Amino acid sequence: MKRKKLIVANWKMNMNISQASLLMHRLQERIQIHRNIEIVLAMSHMHLQPLSLQIDRRKFRQAAQNAHYEDTGPFTGEISFSMLRDLVPYSLVGHSERRIKFGESLDDVSKKVSAAIRNGIMPILCVGEQLDERLAGESKQVVHDQIVTALANVTAEQIGDVVIAYEPIWAISNGVDYQGHETASPDDASKMAHYIRSQIKALYGDYSAHSVRVLYGASVTSANARAYLDADGIDGVLVGGASLNYQEFSGIVHAAYRSLHGVA
Ligand code: PEP
Repeated sequence: MKRKKLIVANWKMNMNISQASLLMHRLQERIQIHRNIEIVLAMSHMHLQPLSLQIDRRKFRQAAQNAHYEDTGPFTGEISFSMLRDLVPYSLVGHSERRIKFGESLDDVSKKVSAAIRNGIMPILCVGEQLDERLAGESKQVVHDQIVTALANVTAEQIGDVVIAYEPIWAISNGVDYQGHETASPDDASKMAHYIRSQIKALYGDYSAHSVRVLYGASVTSANARAYLDADGIDGVLVGGASLNYQEFSGIVHAAYRSLHGVA
């Protein structure tokens, strides 16, 4: 089964509306319509509505970066997936910064995956190990536990709408200084992508394992994107720091195009 390449930008908590609008303008100028490449821009809740009026939907789709798992209720300051319904087709869920800096538990992530799906939003589930877990040889166990708990209430009919992004936390940049940051090798990323697919196979069977999209993310740049995009089992990349620079991000999309068409 041929899966589309998926390139996701994670703008995190950056830019005011006019800066975000300018970045989108520059990306729209530079990036062509690609039939077999899906490009998703994950932006702050504040940017979603105004940029939905500017976005060229032939080229890009929008994503939220997070939302609350309840649909409504006394949760001051929160935004729910039900509020985002019809506005975004995707949302990041369980990003490591949410897990580590905001104390999101495995159970919270599981509820968010279910809430996203319940509201017609495809979760981009982020999984990955921390440095001490990697050094202790626990990477697979950590990823296994994150996947099994996050998908606890996802049915075989729903799993095709879930994207899984492997993001080794030790390799994620600080969002500015992404150049020269330690990265996982494309071979390691590919091995983990296969491991993730084997988990999906164990939970949902062969067909789902072949259809689910698995991304790699952590310090991806226009210089190293091609190696990840060519790696077996990796369907795309999730890009943080480099997605804030239009030349870098369009370079990554170009790398996806070259990877798809096997051109140097
Ligand atoms: C991320 O935090 O999702 C990420 C991939 O960041 P970076 O590309 O900056 O490492």
